[in-house]
Amino acid sequence: MTQLIFEKSQKGRRGCLLPETGVPEIDFDSIIDSSLLNEEDLLLPEVSELDVMRHFVELSHKNHFIEKGLYPLGSCTMKYNPQINESVCTLPRFKDLHPNSPTSFCQGSLEIMYELQNYLADITGLDSVTLQPAAGAHGELTGMLIVKAYFKKKGENRTKVIVPDSAHGTNPATAKMCGFDVVQVGSNEKGLVDIEELKKAVNNDVAAIMLTNPNTLGLFEENILEISKIMHEAGALLYYDGANLNAIMGIVKPGEMGFDIVHINTHKTLSTPHGGGGPGAGPVAVRKELASFLPVPTVGFNGENFYLNYNHEDSIGKVRSFYGNFGVLLRAYTYILSMGKTGLKQASIDAVLNANYLKEKLKGIYMLPYDSVCMHEFVLSGDKQKEQGVNTLGIAKRLMDSGIHPPTVYFPLIVHEALMVEPTETESKETLDYFVDVMLKIAKEIEENPEAVLKSPLTTPVGKIDEVQAAKKPDLAYKGK
Ligand SMILES: *Cc1c(COP(=O)(O)O)cnc(C)c1O
Repeated sequence: MTQLIFEKSQKGRRGCLLPETGVPEIDFDSIIDSSLLNEEDLLLPEVSELDVMRHFVELSHKNHFIEKGLYPLGSCTMKYNPQINESVCTLPRFKDLHPNSPTSFCQGSLEIMYELQNYLADITGLDSVTLQPAAGAHGELTGMLIVKAYFKKKGENRTKVIVPDSAHGTNPATAKMCGFDVVQVGSNEKGLVDIEELKKAVNNDVAAIMLTNPNTLGLFEENILEISKIMHEAGALLYYDGANLNAIMGIVKPGEMGFDIVHINTHKTLSTPHGGGGPGAGPVAVRKELASFLPVPTVGFNGENFYLNYNHEDSIGKVRSFYGNFGVLLRAYTYILSMGKTGLKQASIDAVLNANYLKEKLKGIYMLPYDSVCMHEFVLSGDKQKEQGVNTLGIAKRLMDSGIHPPTVYFPLIVHEALMVEPTETESKETLDYFVDVMLKIAKEIEENPEAVLKSPLTTPVGKIDEVQAAKKPDLAYKGK
């Protein structure tokens, strides 16, 4: 049983010993009003440096991470973050740079941000980029605030945003947060946007559609040019949720499909690490007609110097302190440069190949509701296994006992008992085959002995939990030795 770090505490033990300061000691009471001072000592663990290292290394191994095993979490693109990314962003000149440094002191870092803006514009097929947003959902917020400001300036009162029923939950949430009403459009039998339904939903009240392509079923919206025509003819804008950019990078650009605004999840597509929720970055690219609305500052170049450009006359303002998550952006920049144009394209090609390989091996054993060539991910249904006594949650828990992070489950909502699998390009054939073997073994176990499967997970630090009680009454407090 792992101890809490507080339980490892030994009175007087220290991690590091500082030399004598050479100045006389003074009493706190003489400089701070005693009514403001703590009455008791803080409850802090007293441990050595080695105790700390062992404690946190042990804890980290209880978690799952990409360097430990397969992480086929659909829509999340848990690709490997190459070590060169880490080496670059820990260089002292980046790591120790103060964000308030005068621009003449940090031309190199500004140049990197400027180039990254340009690379992202090229990858998305758009014109201008802000690096500020801190995550994909934050990029959505930025993008939809731009939509709002754009129509306000035009003097048009558009109150609605169209979102397909396969959309990620952040899309309707973002539209709503920006004050729009959400209009849902259904999918057809192929899993694509229902064009007839879309046509009926579009009118002069509609400001934008929020779409990801490939969609969350991992299917390419074949009618994307027709969709963009329908929207643009109605005077509306197209917002691209960039979470699935890993399927098309270097092959086709959202700008060419007709999208006007795109966010990029650098932590998905461009390999920066994001297990456990962050940090990330969600740069936003826009068409030149929308550039004046971008958050300030962006990074500009006047032929001689790089500078912070506050000259966006319709700017929605700042969306984050300083200039974005610089360390994360630096990793994305390193990844782009180390891959190059052909490497980025190859990454997408391999991601799509890996997903199709898994899909073909697993269909028939698990149900595949939308059976066509997929992009970088695909969605199985555990309906058959549920009838045999183990639902998708049970399958997910069983996978953990084989050292595999479960796929995304119960999303998208339009597939019953959904299992959304995204292997990414960084996995080898051997690892993919291992996943197939485990999935087939689990399906067989469910046929033969569902009760046994339901006992999983057995190898994790915490076994089967009451999920409702664990969320509603977590027992986290340290109550003292
Ligand atoms: C991950 C994801 C988002 C949100 O991105 P974050 O960076 O997690 O905020 C939005 N849409 C889709 C389809 C996603 O997969």
